[in-house]
Amino acid sequence: MILKNKNKYIIISLLLLFILNSNALNAQQTYSKKALTGRGDLELVGNTIKLQPEVFRQFKKMQKEALKSGIKIQIVSGYRSYQRQLYIWNNKYNKFALEGFTPKEIFQKIINYTTIPGTSRHHWGTEMDIIDAKVKMPLKLLVETNYAKNGVYNPLKKWMDANSEKFGFFLVYDNSINRKGFKYEPWHYSYKKRAKPMFKQFLKLNIIKSIINKNLKGNQLMTFNFVNNYVNKNIKDINFQLK
Ligand SMILES: [Zn+2]
Repeated sequence: MILKNKNKYIIISLLLLFILNSNALNAQQTYSKKALTGRGDLELVGNTIKLQPEVFRQFKKMQKEALKSGIKIQIVSGYRSYQRQLYIWNNKYNKFALEGFTPKEIFQKIINYTTIPGTSRHHWGTEMDIIDAKVKMPLKLLVETNYAKNGVYNPLKKWMDANSEKFGFFLVYDNSINRKGFKYEPWHYSYKKRAKPMFKQFLKLNIIKSIINKNLKGNQLMTFNFVNNYVNKNIKDINFQLK
């Protein structure tokens, strides 16, 4: 009888240990350097627009709910690979170079809205830029005025303000007065539960090392000071709820 009770005690203890451990593992999911910088090693779902499976599921739920209010949320940009971001960066660089700007000026212009390849939150599969597919597409989609009062995407923005956080989605580059770095992006949302741990792990990487690439236009300007400043302002200065 005593032995039986002792066995029971051991089994219960082991079970408890197992539960505690699996919770700890869940909370500390680690992502590889590749996954954090858009170079693969990340589970994604979707055809043209890709997201992490959980992010995709939550997005679908939110989309369904918004439809009841006549809003058709459409993602125009989800996961972006390093290569894709490199292409975007170099294209913008070339365009500004043709317009006659100096490399330093070009950098300042690009990083108003565009991240240096390897540092984009879109690499994580947790981020999305959204529009409302119910209304006629304006010539330029992702501009602040579309989401502001009287803008075509204002009903979408109002719906998101009231509901997005219930589904786990938060604005990253919000319009708080003291925020530096990227300008206000009323279209860019992040799935907090996954993005927050990725953000923390990303900051532990040697960021300058993951940026330097001879194929990156303006590579020679990526000095330690420049990157340091960029990380402090553009990467770290985001909606406080995501830090
Ligand atoms: Zn975005």
